[in-house]
Amino acid sequence: MKSTHSSPMIRTILGDIQSEELGFCYSHEHIVIEESYPTVQNRDFLLNDVEKIVQELSHLYSLGVRSMADTMPANAGRNIQKLAEVSRKSGIQIIVPTGIHMEIYYPPNHWRYHYSEDQLTQLFVDDIEQGIDIHDYGGPIVERSIHKAGLIKLATGDEPITSHQEKIFRSVVNAHLATGAPILTHTNYGRRAKEQVEMFDKLGADLSHVVLSHVDRYKDIAYHRDILQSGVYVEYDSAFRWKTGEENYTYTLLKQLLSEFPGQITMGMDAAKSQYWKSYGGNPGLDFLVTTFKKDLEEMGLGEFFKNIFIENPAKLFSMNTAE
Ligand SMILES: [Zn+2]
Repeated sequence: MKSTHSSPMIRTILGDIQSEELGFCYSHEHIVIEESYPTVQNRDFLLNDVEKIVQELSHLYSLGVRSMADTMPANAGRNIQKLAEVSRKSGIQIIVPTGIHMEIYYPPNHWRYHYSEDQLTQLFVDDIEQGIDIHDYGGPIVERSIHKAGLIKLATGDEPITSHQEKIFRSVVNAHLATGAPILTHTNYGRRAKEQVEMFDKLGADLSHVVLSHVDRYKDIAYHRDILQSGVYVEYDSAFRWKTGEENYTYTLLKQLLSEFPGQITMGMDAAKSQYWKSYGGNPGLDFLVTTFKKDLEEMGLGEFFKNIFIENPAKLFSMNTAE
């Protein structure tokens, strides 16, 4: 059925909103990482103290931030009830992912290797349309919450794409086409970004609802132009990671590419370790993008693009494509 005016919709953890309600959005965050296989391997990943998380996010809210895309997908530390609590208490709207992370974040012999393409597709679709399991698929009993996923995560590493990863690609694109949910990927420092674009294109994904993360670590302007010319979005999150005295390549890319591709660049913190959070006693704090970075962007003469990066582009990118 067609309604007379269909403004694009974004699926957040507390319900669907109109895309213009998204507001100031961080596009790649780790808000909650619960006890899980990744945190057993590396304790720095543990982010599960609701009080501290609410403190950091409430501070961001007071600075004008309104939304975040969380990027911990199925069975890798996602805690849907904590995410909902954090969203309610801080006022920050959260888009939660389904999908699958890198192989290193799952034990060998995990179900991701045994489930068929169709089974994985169904699991992703159910997260988006029914609600995310409160046990995050950690056991045989599934209890769906009322909280639905609003994006699909996919990850590749440094090696060429494997046949197992190809199965994941197909399941992710199937779920994307069935639900209209956008796709967010992990690249290792931008590597395999081009192969990701080619794979999505081959499988018929809508590239205007695909965003490739962490590409600002790849020092090759021509490579970046190539990727952006395909129509996908990119997400930069290393602005605060370059060391003093080192070229800030994130800034180099912004200077070269923002005026050429103002509608395709998004940013986030990807602060997956508590050492980056002020509420955990770390730095620079998640407010870096609203404070230091905003000032730096203005000093580079690019202040006019702040709203593209943080408001207009996320609103288009994260919209559910429910055209037909
Ligand atoms: Zn991440």
